[in-house]
Amino acid sequence: MAALEKLDAADAAGDGTTERAARHLVQPWPTAGQIGAEARTYIAYGDGIYITGAGGERLIDGPAGMWCVNVGHRRAELADAMRDQAMELSYNTPWYTMNEPSVALSERLAAHAPGDLNHVFYTTGGSSAVETALRFMQFYNNVRGRQEKKTILSRQGAYHGSTYLSGSLNGRPRDRDWMDGADGMVVKLSSPNPFRRPAGMSVEAFSDFLVEEFRETVARIGAERIGAFVAEPIQASGGVIVPPDDYLPRIAQICRDNDILYISDEVVTAFGRVGEVFASLDVFGVEPDMITFAKGVTSGYFPLGGVMMSDRLFETLRRSNHPDAMFAHGLTYSSHPVGCAVALKNLDLLEGGILDHARSVGPYFQQRLRTLEELPLVGEVRGLGLMACIECVADRDSMNPLKLDNEVGRRIDRHCQELGLLVRPLINMCVMSPPLVISREQVDDMVAILREGISRTMDDLR
Ligand code: PLP
Repeated sequence: MAALEKLDAADAAGDGTTERAARHLVQPWPTAGQIGAEARTYIAYGDGIYITGAGGERLIDGPAGMWCVNVGHRRAELADAMRDQAMELSYNTPWYTMNEPSVALSERLAAHAPGDLNHVFYTTGGSSAVETALRFMQFYNNVRGRQEKKTILSRQGAYHGSTYLSGSLNGRPRDRDWMDGADGMVVKLSSPNPFRRPAGMSVEAFSDFLVEEFRETVARIGAERIGAFVAEPIQASGGVIVPPDDYLPRIAQICRDNDILYISDEVVTAFGRVGEVFASLDVFGVEPDMITFAKGVTSGYFPLGGVMMSDRLFETLRRSNHPDAMFAHGLTYSSHPVGCAVALKNLDLLEGGILDHARSVGPYFQQRLRTLEELPLVGEVRGLGLMACIECVADRDSMNPLKLDNEVGRRIDRHCQELGLLVRPLINMCVMSPPLVISREQVDDMVAILREGISRTMDDLR
């Protein structure tokens, strides 16, 4: 079996950037044994769906950064919007002043949001958006005199962020193995992963099982103690888990019946990733109480996130017995004028043709990627729109998972990088979420590289 270190060596070579980084830069998600010394691919330029390394090697940006560069790299319109707004008003305090771009963006987002989600609170990214939604749920229940109604329901396989409370919701084992969390506040339910449903169970029966588990959990804990259910419509970092069709609407109904706030975490799925500005209602048939968003709202050009909140929540608070209670929560960069100006221009681009393009190329992307299921290492290719996951297995008959130390995802990524594609490895899975502007020909290029990268990985494992 080829040593992974050998495949990694390509990263360490070059112009000394790795050594410079090792001296001062702490990279996200480091492992203890390599902390401060990770070799990571150095990216110098971006253009459209491509990124270029320091040595001039051009790669397709398979994960679009981290599911975020939706309109593609090097969009002059976004750079101009950023510069123009910075020259006009680079910052104002959101405590007692306000700016036009944040008002205009709120109007545009409210027009796209489902139902009565007409209000926006801006944050600096996805973790702070989830944190804000959860703190708002706590405030909402405090003001209503329901101090006990705070338990949060999350799911195995979830990823909701890297702040303390948002991180406590994470359900991927590696996110929690070495980290503390607010465990007493969170209850984890099963991941709605049809690929890993119990043997012999139909997808319909699996959905019934998940709904029953939810009902039983509410009955066991007591609805009067449960504040919110938080769910990504598609569990993204958990491996692009597309749930059974009727599962989310059925859970939403139970939440509504039990006065449990439904928080739809659309940090990944919003802004065109599955073809719509917001996917909760249009794609998944759910009208949540809050939606969290980030990433694609500025296509990653500026750190911005936010929470859409419903009229219903606002009306309840306005009619409460504590009209003076304060939601003591805000960030220095809430409603940032430059971020909101970039988001407005980004929405122009999405509405001006990129959303239509994403809707049309998405099914082609899914269909072409699924041809990789012919390869013996590939257990399943799944996804929706322009997000997909290739899950590798030890054995196609049993679909048994591979041993973790095979690090198949990293191997495929390393081979694909040599061939011109950056892949996001997730243990024994590879995630694909390219910029939405990808053409059909570029999808073909991507799939051809993946086919070769997976074949080379199969050779490694022999
Ligand atoms: N929620 C989801 C569904 C995510 O995928 C992520 C990040 O990947 C987050 C929240 C956290 O967002 P951020 O990294 O911007 O804080």
